[in-house]
Amino acid sequence: MIELNDLTMSYALESSRVNVLSGVDLAIADGETVAIIGPSGSGKTTLLILLAGLEQPERGEIRLDGAVLSTLNADGLADMRRDKLGIIFQSFHLVPSLTALANVALPLDIAGHSQSRERAREMLAKVGLAQRENHYPSQLSGGEQQRVAIARALVHAPKLVLADEPTGNLDLRTGEKVSDILFDLNREAGATLLMVTHDEAIAKRCSRVLRLHEGKLVEEPHALPA
Ligand code: ATP
Repeated sequence: MIELNDLTMSYALESSRVNVLSGVDLAIADGETVAIIGPSGSGKTTLLILLAGLEQPERGEIRLDGAVLSTLNADGLADMRRDKLGIIFQSFHLVPSLTALANVALPLDIAGHSQSRERAREMLAKVGLAQRENHYPSQLSGGEQQRVAIARALVHAPKLVLADEPTGNLDLRTGEKVSDILFDLNREAGATLLMVTHDEAIAKRCSRVLRLHEGKLVEEPHALPA
């Protein structure tokens, strides 16, 4: 499902460059649940940005579900994101002029889904926001906006979820609820989860934990809970 070969990325900084990813190789099978950990600035978000096709790597190849990302044109990338990916980033990018319900329904509306409102309503209820469907983003708290963004990312039951700190900013109970939704999607629909997280409870539930260290991914010894 996900294959990375020699993935390399650096950023220009004044007269020098900052090396962020230095030849990352990785294979993640369908249905795996993977936590990416590592200190601040180690390149975790950069890795997700490249996987989502939002930026081009400096070198190396990304293969998602058999397709080499760099060979897709803008339409191909848009199709891939719409059909297969659920992307949860730290900035929520909700549409300010749409209600919570309409924001969640948006990916389904774009895909021409006939029951987008019903499905969006179910997702909002799952993230605990059934009472907020007519609120606009500016009328929601930060954690509520985050949950709307998560509901929107998962409303089309994506095969691959890329999530950057999905439970960051949420209280313990709400974080558990969001994490249950993600793992339910894995268990019930076989979705592959790749999540950057500082949340040990999430890392413990994942089948693999990978640490970004000096530009490479290193497998962490990891005991699954009984
Ligand atoms: P955090 O846990 O703090 O979110 P991270 O592991 O996700 O950090 P990244 O956001 O991937 O780290 O950033 C990795 C490094 O690349 C950082 O040193 C950052 O300053 C640098 N960086 C990221 N994006 C850019 C950019 N667009 N231009 C220049 N440098 C960048």
